[in-house]
Formats: sequence, structure tokens, C-alpha cells
Amino acid sequence: MNAGPWLSVPPGGYGGIENIVATLVPPLRDLGVEVVLVSVGDSTLEVDELLSVFPVGQFRQLQRPYNQVNGVVPAHQHAVVRALRERSDIDLVHDHVEAAGLATLAALGRHDPPVLHTLHWDLHKHPELYGTFDGGGRVWVNGVSADQIARAPEALRAHAVGHVHLATPLAEGAHLRRPPEKGGHVVILGRITPGKGQDLGVRLAHQHGFDLILAGPVGPYHSAADLAAAGSTDNPDVAYFREKVEPYVDGWRVRWLGTVRPPARDDLVASARAVLAPLRWAEPGGTFVVEALALGTPVVGLARGCLPELVDHGRTGYLTEVDDELPDLLEAAAKLDPAESMRDAAARFTPALMASRYVELYRQVLAS
Ligand code: UDP
Repeated sequence: MNAGPWLSVPPGGYGGIENIVATLVPPLRDLGVEVVLVSVGDSTLEVDELLSVFPVGQFRQLQRPYNQVNGVVPAHQHAVVRALRERSDIDLVHDHVEAAGLATLAALGRHDPPVLHTLHWDLHKHPELYGTFDGGGRVWVNGVSADQIARAPEALRAHAVGHVHLATPLAEGAHLRRPPEKGGHVVILGRITPGKGQDLGVRLAHQHGFDLILAGPVGPYHSAADLAAAGSTDNPDVAYFREKVEPYVDGWRVRWLGTVRPPARDDLVASARAVLAPLRWAEPGGTFVVEALALGTPVVGLARGCLPELVDHGRTGYLTEVDDELPDLLEAAAKLDPAESMRDAAARFTPALMASRYVELYRQVLAS
């Protein structure tokens, strides 16, 4: 199980891919799968074996744009290749490292084990790789939503074995828990980045007068103090935050809390009247969506990417194509029954369900 070099597993806060690996591995092991985790040295997830190149996560290196960070991903992927070359007890590689990392694995020889690569990203970001992807007969891919696979470049779709929705431990037994007490605030949870659309959220909050709380890092910076200390930086998310989001953060109508870690994160989301998803990109998997539903909070957002697959319009949230309809839908969402979202999450987004779907895909890949 290759989680990449950026953050430890579990990440202890922000970390989409690392959270999913931490969610997937325990139920996989319950199903009898032995897991060698390739991650960073201070990962604490219980596995059969941990392999690492870097002692700690390299997230800080992302002060610069991802494609200008040299050496981190290749060095990490090298550990995977070395392990495959030195031992014969690995049947399959489940890889979560995007683009540059996949290229390393795609270049492995025919005698190496097959690779199932889970797509976590906006595929159009890397046309040079994904647009001409050739799995060499040994690399297969799965999406985290049907939409992601449907819009993938043809070369990639030819190697797709299906999709598996993301899951959260919060969904386990969610239908048995008491629905939370609601406050008046709306939350946007996630990296502050143009694709997640926080700029639209903050503008709407000011125009329509609702209280909005943003939680999440800006680039590799987890707090306002962290960001101030960074001074000038090339990170595009920092530029986005400073130009389009920060001018609206007044500490009253709109607040930015930086990264919020569980359990505070879960309290923040559970007590919100809605989670807002003013997405600009085709959100591939949306962990924040399944987490909100599991916590009994409706999701209101733009109908992009995986959102229509995850949100049951009129029951667990509201979706629209139109930016200006979002404030009315936030009002409407306050009348939805949180118990419906919790029931839906308990039925559809548990770690055990995700693990059994992956075991099916592993079988499919091993049989090809
Ligand atoms: N997250 C968190 N604290 C924050 C912001 C995000 O713990 O302040 C978590 C969030 O709950 C989710 C993950 O980080 O589990 C982000 O994954 P998601 O798929 O929503 O977004 P990505 O960043 O992978 O696009």
C-alpha cells in the first residue's frame, strides 16, 4: 500500500490520501490481507511492515508548486521498486501516488507484481502522463467516483477496473448515534485552493449574510501565524488565499481557523447547519462530503464531480448548477433531517464496505 511521501499515516489532521489509506488498511487486514505500507518513517498506522525513505512527511516542500518539487516522489517510489526487486512476497501494489510516481511504476518489468493505481486527482492536470497512459499490461486504475472515470482521458479509461467511493470511520454505526445539536454556522472544510471554491463561498457569505467558517491549510501552512512567518512564497494556493479569500476574512462573518484536527474538526462539522461545497473543479472523491453526511450535516454545493453521486438531492443535501442559488439552498438544508444523512452514510460509506470493494478489484487485477 503506497501512501506517498507527503504526510504520515494517519495524518492527524489534513490529508485526503493519507486519511483514506488509514481508513482502508484496518478493514483490509480484518479481511486477511497482509499490508506492507510505504509511507514516511513516523507513520503510526498498524501494518504488517512499514517501508520508508523519508523519516517524516515532506509536506513542507510544497511551498513551491507541486511540479517544481524535485526528487521527493522519485526517491519515495524508488523504495517501492527496490522492495519489489528484493523480495517475492508482494502480490500486488496498491498505489496512491499521482502522476510522476505512477510513471515509475508503469516502467516496471513484466515479472513484477501488478499495480492498482487509485486516481485521487484532477486527471486533466497531467495530460502529459494520463493523456497517453500505457499501463504496460500491468498497471490498472480505479477512480474514487464514476464521474472521475467517465471524464478520464481515453488512454486511462482503457485501463480502468471501476470506481470505489471514499469512506470514513465516522460512518460506522452513524445510524445508531443521536443527531447533533445544530449551530448557525456554515463550514467549508478542505485545502484552500481555487478548485474548492472558497472565494465564491466567502463572497456569498458577505452578500447574503451567513456565518461561514473555513477550515483547512493554505499550501503547506496550517495557521495564520505559520502563513505570516512564510513571507513571500511561490505557492499558488497562498496567492489565491491572499488575493481572493483573505480580504473577506473579517473574523466575524467569515473566519479562517487554519487546519482543524479531529476531534475538534468533527465537532465543528457536526454542529454546522451545512457544509458548503462551492466547487470549481470536478471534485474526484470528496472525503469531506462523506464525513459531513456521517456527522449528520447536510451538504450544499455545486453539482460537480462526485457530488451528485454522494449527495442525495433533497434528502441529504442540495445541489445546483447556479452559484447564486447556494444561499437559498443553505436555508432549505436547515430543514433536512440529519438522521437521513447518518443512515445513508452508515449504509454507503463505511470502511468495511470500501475494503470489500477493493478486495474485489485486487482479485480482478490479479486475474488479468
Ligand atoms: N481535513 C482536516 N482538517 C482540515 C481540513 C481538512 O482534518 O482543517 C481533512 C478532511 O476532513 C478530509 C481530508 O482532510 O478527511 C481532505 O480530504 P478531501 O478528499 O476532502 O480533500 P483533498 O484535499 O484530498 O482534495
